[in-house]
Amino acid sequence: MRAAVIEELNKPLVVQNVPDPECPPDGAVLRVGANGICRTDWHLWTDDWAWRGLAIKPPFVLGHEFSGTVEAVGRDVKGWKEGDRVIFPMNPGEGTCEWCRSGNQHVCDSGALLVPGVSYWGAFAEYVAVRYADVNLVRLPDSISFVDSASLACRYMAAFHGIVDQAAVRGGEWVVVHGVGGMGLSAVQIATAVGAKVIAVDVSEKALAAARDVGALHTIDSRTDDPVEAVRTLTHGGAQVSIDALGITETCRNSVLSLRKLGRHVQLGHTTRKEAGYVPLPIDVILLNELRLYGIFGMQGQRFGTMLAMCEAGTLEPGRVVHQQIGLEEITGVLQAMGTYDTTGVVVINRF
Ligand SMILES: [Zn+2]
Ligand SMILES: [Zn+2]
Repeated sequence: MRAAVIEELNKPLVVQNVPDPECPPDGAVLRVGANGICRTDWHLWTDDWAWRGLAIKPPFVLGHEFSGTVEAVGRDVKGWKEGDRVIFPMNPGEGTCEWCRSGNQHVCDSGALLVPGVSYWGAFAEYVAVRYADVNLVRLPDSISFVDSASLACRYMAAFHGIVDQAAVRGGEWVVVHGVGGMGLSAVQIATAVGAKVIAVDVSEKALAAARDVGALHTIDSRTDDPVEAVRTLTHGGAQVSIDALGITETCRNSVLSLRKLGRHVQLGHTTRKEAGYVPLPIDVILLNELRLYGIFGMQGQRFGTMLAMCEAGTLEPGRVVHQQIGLEEITGVLQAMGTYDTTGVVVINRF
């Protein structure tokens, strides 16, 4: 099969023929329909996450945000067959630990070993193997295309889980999204769809225009305006919900400071090498105002039903956060542009 292979970190990916993946007894091989390029791919390609013990060893194939068609299933798989259209949520479980058994397989104890494109070769390729197909695969309705659904496997589902499940955003609430890349843009659309009044903050006019296009009522350019002050003015005292969709010190702290009393902060972005997992936060503000902090890591497969139903109804339109469709040869340019925040929305590979 054709694949875009990292032969050396930080160097252009090499598109070449490699052996097809083998099908695990509990898993499946999928023909990749579309695969989003996520900031996680950039973190791994640049070796930005070695501090957290997350590094890839070349040769390696990235790609964890995909949908496709089942090509083969392992002998232990009961619920899937060749030809099924599916999404594979990027944080899978093995089905038996206490978290999987309580319906929280997205935080499975063994999850870190099971992620294609992170723990083993992923889907920047024609085919990808996935583990524990019966536990993890989600059926993709015929009415939703591969391009529209790719981001549902990572950034879009994380934004959905943060807004709908964790922060439980209600109609009429103010929601601020700090950082409007692919995940932030998804958050703007989802919060708008559930009836929130959304404010988007970014340093890129293109990103802010994209946010207005999917429903943001107000946008703030944080190069020229202090986002905390601007949010406090617009919302008369702060937002009910604020989201850090990037994961750097500035966006995380600004998010917490954008909240009114009893507000909910949602952490969607992972930190970078610079923060190494630690961001100084105004603890007394959190205490005095009884703020709540929610961490988000993907979403359980069984929660996809609600999200997909909203997509089928047209309430959510994940295809509108996709700004570019590319082939395997063009991945390197996108990864390089991510390093300078020079991409808009979700970029999807759909030519292999
Ligand atoms: Zn991702
Ligand atoms: Zn588990």
